Amino acid sequence: MQLNIKDKFNTQLPADTATEHSRRQVTGACFSYVTPKRTKKPELIHTSKEMLDELGLTITDSKNDVFLKAFTGNSILPNTKPYAMCYGGHQFGNWAGQLGDGRAINLCEVEHNNKNWALQLKGAGETPYSRTADGLAVLRSSIREYLCSEAMYHLGVPTTRALSLALSGDRVLRDVMYNGNPAYEKGAIVCRAAESFLRFGNYQIFAARQDLKNLKKLVDYTIKHHFSHLGQPSKETYVAFFGDVANRTLKMIIHWQRVGFVHGVMNTDNMSILGLTIDYGPYGWLEGFDFGWTPNTTDRQYKRYRYGNQPNIGLWNLLQLANALYPLIEDAPTLEAILNDYKTNFDRASLKMMRSKLGLTLELDTDKTLIQELEDVLQLTETDMTIFFRKLGDFNSNETPENGLQGIHDVFYKPEQVSGKIKEQWHIWFKKYADRLQKETIVFNERKQQMHRVNPKYVLRNYMAQLAIDKADEGDYTLIDELYQLLKKPYDEQPEYNKWFTKRPEWARHKVGCSMLSCSS
Ligand code: AMP
Ligand code: MG
Repeated sequence: MQLNIKDKFNTQLPADTATEHSRRQVTGACFSYVTPKRTKKPELIHTSKEMLDELGLTITDSKNDVFLKAFTGNSILPNTKPYAMCYGGHQFGNWAGQLGDGRAINLCEVEHNNKNWALQLKGAGETPYSRTADGLAVLRSSIREYLCSEAMYHLGVPTTRALSLALSGDRVLRDVMYNGNPAYEKGAIVCRAAESFLRFGNYQIFAARQDLKNLKKLVDYTIKHHFSHLGQPSKETYVAFFGDVANRTLKMIIHWQRVGFVHGVMNTDNMSILGLTIDYGPYGWLEGFDFGWTPNTTDRQYKRYRYGNQPNIGLWNLLQLANALYPLIEDAPTLEAILNDYKTNFDRASLKMMRSKLGLTLELDTDKTLIQELEDVLQLTETDMTIFFRKLGDFNSNETPENGLQGIHDVFYKPEQVSGKIKEQWHIWFKKYADRLQKETIVFNERKQQMHRVNPKYVLRNYMAQLAIDKADEGDYTLIDELYQLLKKPYDEQPEYNKWFTKRPEWARHKVGCSMLSCSS
């Protein structure tokens, strides 16, 4: 196995001088050296062919014992020094102090085809940042992270990637719903990959500790390696850096809204500085279109991270990052202007995205209202978001509102509710939509094709991941591969997979793992 290893983070930034794994506050350092835990019986379940390619590896490499041992933490690649990163963060709106890689261990960085890849194991044992937990991950959450990060990549959403999914052979104790019923589960390790795993929290921790020397070191490092287009570090460059992060964050969240992805835990330690979707925990996919929905039971009370609030939280998190960078910039109005721009840019980008979902190529003033009215009507009764937008491409401007509603009859979870006022509202909306389409010059087929490129046919519905998990628990990994293959082409018709183009089955409505998820992974 030949990897072009080019470590930067752990060779250019200050290291923790202590090397034991004991839980502690780590100051004056960006990371701590750690050794992954040896596991009882490592066994590879799946590898991503696309990610192997990115690293310059082959399928044959992935079948080698060297690969298995390296990506389950059972041996350390030559000339590498694994480490855990130090970061802090705001959790659910409150400053939580030091958090850090408690169950993630960075192996090394690889350069291939002019791209930098940090490789990181999730679930490979404790680090100084493990706090009260064990540093391990269970099979269920590892399958969810593995499948979803690759699915998001194929959907065109900026994301961290996944290289491999393996069983550790060890058992891990978890209280899934935090209700005093702990049970043993199979342990697993995902190797994930990203240009960098730096988060807002990496900068926040230095600012909180008033360690400006290391804050500057880390920001300069980030600009040099990941934002080099901005030029040499200076106050102006720091401002541009913040502006760039704001833009990337905005783009990422627009994509989430487009595909109906709800992250679930948008704490500032889970916000990538590169604008990548990171830390797949209690995330979920909208089934019924609902701005108020969150999959995370831990957030049940206030629903801070609900679907409709993700754009605002992006802004709130950026404000925290601005506060952290402030000592290097000392210019509040400029930072505030960037935050204000986020709001206007978001509205503009959101309108553009929604126009594309509706197949509108002209920009008319009335579009905003049409879109708002659609969002309202979608929430009158539980209406499947993915199937609705996919089927909307079949609607032609010369059809009647009755035809329009007929064409989407199977998107409603409670079809009996689509009568009276609700039916009327739908008719009114389809009439307006038909009128609006009349103004377009683009022909039906072309519009349909364009819409199908932004409205996926297949997403990783919560129950689908759960079915794959249930089978994997019994040692059958075929469904993991089936979903992996399906989600490589989410915008294609793939009629052979039509059974996945259906609403969530009723049995999954209140099942743990399907509609309810906790952070306990
Ligand atoms: P999360 O909400 O999953 O992003 O995790 C928040 C913090 O808790 C991070 O610093 C994690 O590293 C840490 N953490 C979560 N689960 C574990 C675990 N099983 N062992 C150690 N640390 C953990
Ligand atoms: Mg996290």
